[in-house]
Amino acid sequence: MAFIITDPCISTKDHACVDVCPVDCIHPRKDEPEFEQVTMLYIHPEECIDCGACVPACPVAAIYDSPDSTPASQKALIEANSIYRAGDADAVAKAEAIVQAHISAHPDLMSVPPAERATAHQG
Ligand code: SF4
Ligand code: SF4
Repeated sequence: MAFIITDPCISTKDHACVDVCPVDCIHPRKDEPEFEQVTMLYIHPEECIDCGACVPACPVAAIYDSPDSTPASQKALIEANSIYRAGDADAVAKAEAIVQAHISAHPDLMSVPPAERATAHQG
């Protein structure tokens, strides 16, 4: 079970999690060409070793420790994390389409500042 990045990352993308991940499974990194085009970052579900280092590093509490612990409003983003592959334009487009659909479906969450969104997940 991999860790999951959720919607507080949208518009934040500050890279702190990437810098602490020991297995480099969070993408895109700033030095990957997709970094500027994506809406959020994604954790590769098979490469993640469940170490937990990324969770306290994230300034907006965007990361949950498993699909099961991911709040109901964020469940669609589990698949976006799962699909995304750096360097695969089709996979990037599919993951981003899921994120755009999530944004359209949750204007309530998107109206909350990223740093307060994780609290709103529990509401
Ligand atoms: S739990 Fe560990 S391995 Fe998985 S994304 Fe976070 S830092 Fe990387
Ligand atoms: S630290 Fe949090 S906000 Fe920053 S890129 Fe990682 S998941 Fe996104």
